Amino acid sequence: MKGKNWRDFEPEKKQRSTEPRQRRKKRKRKKGRMLRRLIWFVILFAIGYAGFMLYYTFSKPYTIALDAGHGGWDVGAEGIINEVELTERTVSELEALLKEDGRFRIILSRKEGEGMSITERNQKFQKKHPDLMLSIHGNANDDSSANGFECYPSPPGYENHETSLAFAQLLAEEMRTVGAKLRGTEGVRFGYYNSNGEKVLVDSSDTEVYDFDTFGMLKNMDCPAVLVEQCFITNQADVDQFGTEDGCKKAAAAYYRAICRYLESIETIENA
Ligand SMILES: [Zn+2]
Repeated sequence: MKGKNWRDFEPEKKQRSTEPRQRRKKRKRKKGRMLRRLIWFVILFAIGYAGFMLYYTFSKPYTIALDAGHGGWDVGAEGIINEVELTERTVSELEALLKEDGRFRIILSRKEGEGMSITERNQKFQKKHPDLMLSIHGNANDDSSANGFECYPSPPGYENHETSLAFAQLLAEEMRTVGAKLRGTEGVRFGYYNSNGEKVLVDSSDTEVYDFDTFGMLKNMDCPAVLVEQCFITNQADVDQFGTEDGCKKAAAAYYRAICRYLESIETIENA
């Protein structure tokens, strides 16, 4: 250190103190840039999301709730095929037809292969306020000669009974068009559980208001709600007709036409 006094170190000291300051400034500028970018990103995302939601809401005016009966560990009734095979095939075909049409937003009660309780499915649908609800099932009987199509709208006494009945009649009509035999009066019945929890099925000519619960999927819905029994999975001819892949496709096309007809009839009434 000989020959050097403290002044020799002065410039060095200055350099040491300014360098971090410059770095700090740089870092601050960088932070500012990043924050501005983040704000822009959030703004653009919000605009994009709002635009998408507007498009989604107005370009697809109808929301259809589709329930493939059973699922997961619950395969439904077992016959020539398992009931769940029919319900999942049909829902998947119907979903494809509705998507292709472009006017429909579709809510599925569950994913394919997934199991979910009736209460959970019903609650999921309630929250979304669909325009129509269709629950698909297959029928079964110890007597393998039992056959045909039947469906269950929300029964008398329920707020959505009239609209559900109108939708059910169209579903049955369209199924008859593709060759289904309709059970009971034109394929429409009402379903209840009595106070002992036993299933009670009555013909649609029985319009009495019973103090019974109806099927879980039909409860608490504020739209037309119908449960269909597409065919008997215990009857070979029925399975051939509406349980195979082609058969489920045929039934799905019939349901699709019934959905369109129902919603178009409502539009006509509203616009009259
Ligand atoms: Zn079932």
